[in-house]
Amino acid sequence: MTELRLFNSLTRQLETFTPVHDGEARVYSCGPTVYNYQHIGNMRAYVFADTLGRVLSYKGYKLTHVINITDVGHLTSDADAGDDKMEKAAAAQGKSAWDIAAFYQADFEADLERLNIRKPAHPKATEYIDAMIEWGKSISDKHCYILDSGLYFDVSTVPEYGRLARAVTEDGEARIEEVDGKRNAADFAIWRKTPAGETRQMEWDSPWGKGAPGWHLECSVMSKALLGLPFDIHTGGIDHREIHHPNEIAQNQAHEGCADSGARIWMHNNFLIERSGKMSKSSGEFLRLQLLIDKGFHPLAYRLMCLQAHYRSELEFSWGLLFGTLTRLKRMIGSIERLRAMLPQETNQRNPDFPIDANHYGVGGFITAFEDTIYDDLNTSSALVLLDAFISGKDLEPSVQLATIEVADNVLGLNLMTLTRQDLRVRPKAAIITEEDIETALAARKEARAAKDFAKSDAIRDDLIAKGVEVMDGDPLGWDWKLDV
Ligand code: AMP
Ligand code: ZN
Repeated sequence: MTELRLFNSLTRQLETFTPVHDGEARVYSCGPTVYNYQHIGNMRAYVFADTLGRVLSYKGYKLTHVINITDVGHLTSDADAGDDKMEKAAAAQGKSAWDIAAFYQADFEADLERLNIRKPAHPKATEYIDAMIEWGKSISDKHCYILDSGLYFDVSTVPEYGRLARAVTEDGEARIEEVDGKRNAADFAIWRKTPAGETRQMEWDSPWGKGAPGWHLECSVMSKALLGLPFDIHTGGIDHREIHHPNEIAQNQAHEGCADSGARIWMHNNFLIERSGKMSKSSGEFLRLQLLIDKGFHPLAYRLMCLQAHYRSELEFSWGLLFGTLTRLKRMIGSIERLRAMLPQETNQRNPDFPIDANHYGVGGFITAFEDTIYDDLNTSSALVLLDAFISGKDLEPSVQLATIEVADNVLGLNLMTLTRQDLRVRPKAAIITEEDIETALAARKEARAAKDFAKSDAIRDDLIAKGVEVMDGDPLGWDWKLDV
């Protein structure tokens, strides 16, 4: 049986996964700050965490996955001073900070669902304020000091601070705002006092004055509360390897009184990048999942786009790449629909308990190769190549082939067994013609061509083009038209 090997950012090596608790896998992923919509780069982090969770489930572990919701206290960048993102958004939109958080949390959850990300537990930071204050109290004597702006953690009090980052990088330091009186540049706030004379919507009493927790604290507190320390795997975007996760580790070490980081394996997804700045939340048409859908892309095409790259590689977004990925998904769905059409009518509804004959020619070999690939640090891009070849294989019994595709899809999460060609035809928001009208026009054009009335058939085509319809005669995927707006 192939072992699951994962890249641990802490050791910068591939390591065999061995659970802390027999038969279980406990995973914590840093979640969104809900002061705005998530961009598709953020969503790459959750597609990665979900795929990891699916691989662990497939390997037979009982999975507990937590994605926290930061609904308080995260400042712009990793800084400890300055405006609170939540309060700033509330002021800008004339809403309460609580309403802002609830709105964007709901939007985030909708995006998770659209990307077929299995529902994790998602605790809110505001539900753990008391526990955060308790944590702060237990470490304040030995590890913290007080400044005017709050309670600060002294990173020199724990062993090997910054080991995860391999250094306190210059980039890292630049992102930590200067605060007068800090003992070390990397020291960070455990509690941020509300500045004198100000009242915040989100503030709580504490031994260090009215205020709010520093944003690193919630992840230590919630991961311990929900998963226990140490737990198995902590994930996040690569940016968190430099500051946020080293700070979580420092807090864990201080609280637990040991050198252990708190998680056995730390995993980081690389960034989705977009060079023209459309991923910036301040840009007008910023890249969020809804924008992709508005432009006619099915959200699972984005999931596939993420899986096509290894999670540790940068992935450069482009509309062309997304278009090509959608075509790949169409091809997969088209092949699966053809396989389904080959089943005898009465068994068209596949029995979910259909036994997969592991010895069946082709199936055993595929499953073994697929497992070897995904257990090799989640090599989804190669797994997809194997799956493409398997889906288009013509020498297998279709019901066995379909059941095997379903097994692989449980790991990849592309909904291959339920998606239809129709689902993939997402109507662009700016479309000015209905599908029905397109079909009617195309039927009329066909008639005109059959009657050799080419003037009429050309006129119909020109009219369709003017309405954003690209007519694709003889498309090998059987996609006769697409709406391009
Ligand atoms: P934030 O709300 O900024 O804390 O980000 C939520 C998650 O998305 C974190 O795990 C980040 O590391 C991750 N993230 C942020 N930007 C990107 C990006 N461009 N590509 C991939 N992951 C990202
Ligand atoms: Zn975190």
